[in-house]
Amino acid sequence: MTWVAATSRALLLITVVACVGALYGYPQEAVILALLGICGFSYHQMRRVQLWLQTPEQMPPDAYGLWGQILSRMYFLQRNSLEAQAQLQTTVDSLQDSFAAMRDGVVMVDTNGCIKWLNRSLEPLLGLRCPEDTGQPLTNLVRAPEFSRYFLAMDYSAPLEYLASVGDKPLYLRIEVTPFGEGERLLFVRDVSNAVLMEKMRREFVANVSHELRTPLTVISGYLGTLLSDTNAFPERYLKAVTQMGQQAERMESLLKDLLWLSRIESEHYNTAHDAIDVQGLFHELRDDLAESHPNSVLVLEISTDETICGNYRQLYSAVSNLAINAIKYSPEGNPVTLSWTLQGDDLCMQVRDRGLGIDSSHIPRLTERFYRVDDSRNSATGGTGLGLAIVKHVAAANDGQLKIESKLGEGSTFTLIFPARG
Ligand code: ADP
Repeated sequence: MTWVAATSRALLLITVVACVGALYGYPQEAVILALLGICGFSYHQMRRVQLWLQTPEQMPPDAYGLWGQILSRMYFLQRNSLEAQAQLQTTVDSLQDSFAAMRDGVVMVDTNGCIKWLNRSLEPLLGLRCPEDTGQPLTNLVRAPEFSRYFLAMDYSAPLEYLASVGDKPLYLRIEVTPFGEGERLLFVRDVSNAVLMEKMRREFVANVSHELRTPLTVISGYLGTLLSDTNAFPERYLKAVTQMGQQAERMESLLKDLLWLSRIESEHYNTAHDAIDVQGLFHELRDDLAESHPNSVLVLEISTDETICGNYRQLYSAVSNLAINAIKYSPEGNPVTLSWTLQGDDLCMQVRDRGLGIDSSHIPRLTERFYRVDDSRNSATGGTGLGLAIVKHVAAANDGQLKIESKLGEGSTFTLIFPARG
């Protein structure tokens, strides 16, 4: 029934009652009576609706006309919403069940950083109790400074890996955070101790092999050096071979040196000594050293900030030195190489620029892989080990920085170590 039909029916009723009232000489009273009847009926229906809404799970009362339509529409909407709610609850329940059954720790945190939901796997990982810790601020319960720094910084582009101390045994945890909703966060916590242990074993193996190879190589190099020190007394036909042996032994020595250094940086990753680094002093020391080892090089220093960073001096020196030596190696002799230290927004940039050979963009993503070379002929001429940029990348990571490489073939290259300013 439509509004028009309902209104027409009410008007008809009032008219009929008014006519009957007029027959008896009381038309106005009859109209009032009819209006009161309509109001009473509506009030009675409203009351039934109100009573039904108090127990909406029951069937709605029978109602007539427009009220019947209103009630059946309300009942339909209510059933739909109950069904949708039940479906949603089933999804939430199955999600929670699967999260609860996961071996990884899962914790849901609200806008204020308080725990909304967590699974039992977190107990041995972060020491959280399920469900007792629900509602508590997460950073009050997980005390590791690395965790608090990462969690509060709100930059979750990369996962956090850190050494946690829950119970007696050391535990390496990997934390991944996914923001969702309005400021809520979902944290996945995984025990990566086995992977870290394997990686440690691999590093130790490389380090041990490199170390073991050093002694025989030192003996070989020593004898070759003695033989080559007096080439006059040496038979002509062996000279070329022995000279090449000497060069290759030297190359192997620098390879072993770089391998050992790389293993050391990797193993120091979790406990690098962090001192305030005087970058200006580091640049000056490097310039003095390069003046001796590469007398034809031209090094320009540009220092526009006296900000310092926290890091490991030896590692950072080796990184900048590798970059500067590369810049010298891969530039025409005498081309200036610029070392700069600047503050750019929130970042401190340690940059090495050259106007040398440059690198084709297709090689840039792979440059920091161990032993990756742009071009073997270029490399054999310069005698590089292919480990320099791998070292630089690891130094950057161990000192909370990043390595950015920009280069254009034939125009030169810029290598930038970017560190967060301490503010
Ligand atoms: P290498 O010991 O061979 O120099 P690196 O890891 O230091 O090894 O560098 C990897 C490769 O990147 C080099 O073989 C070289 O081809 C290229 N490269 C590095 N730095 C520069 C640079 N400043 N200009 C041009 N090419 C470079």
